Amino acid sequence: MIELYDNGHGVDTAGKCSPDQSLREYKKARELVKDIVARRRAMGYDARILVPEDKDISLGERCRRVNAICNEVGKSNVLLVSIHCNAAGADGKWKSAGGWCAYTSPGQTNADTLATHLYDAAETALADYIEAFPIHKAKGEYDSKQRPIRTDYSDGDPDYEARFYILMHTLCPAVLTESMFQDNKADVDFLLSAEGHNAIVNLHVNGVESYIKSLK
Ligand SMILES: [Zn+2]
Repeated sequence: MIELYDNGHGVDTAGKCSPDQSLREYKKARELVKDIVARRRAMGYDARILVPEDKDISLGERCRRVNAICNEVGKSNVLLVSIHCNAAGADGKWKSAGGWCAYTSPGQTNADTLATHLYDAAETALADYIEAFPIHKAKGEYDSKQRPIRTDYSDGDPDYEARFYILMHTLCPAVLTESMFQDNKADVDFLLSAEGHNAIVNLHVNGVESYIKSLK
């Protein structure tokens, strides 16, 4: 299995940062991907960074890179995880939404299985975040509707479904994860902490590991 990790956006992508600019999505995504890939390679897997560049690479080119590898080794021997940080708005103001979630394309494919393994891994890796969530909620940092693990069970599994370009135009199972909100203060504090960063790395490392084992 070749594991491809995509980091959202680029240094030249407008917006995509916390209101206080302490967190930039392109940078956090690259730091997460770098550490996830290093961990997976240390475990003996063929994990690769899809976008080594800092500048933004078009979605078309990202998909072309994925599909070239799919065509070379067979799409069932490839998986893609695209790493992002969520946002509730784009007006440069702090918001009250928070949590972690994953997206797949509509319909049931191996991507849904991969997403479910990531959700299972999230329950463990994000245990401290989940525990602290009601405390932040009580302080008004999350509104009453928020949940630490965001799920959509309308189609029987926890992930959300969306026709995101990178999910629709890649041949292999592909999941896009949104690790917390870049416009929520409590989430940004978590993302910028060593504990939070490592928890999100562990989530992806353990979720992918569990998915690959489930295929055998
Ligand atoms: Zn993004």
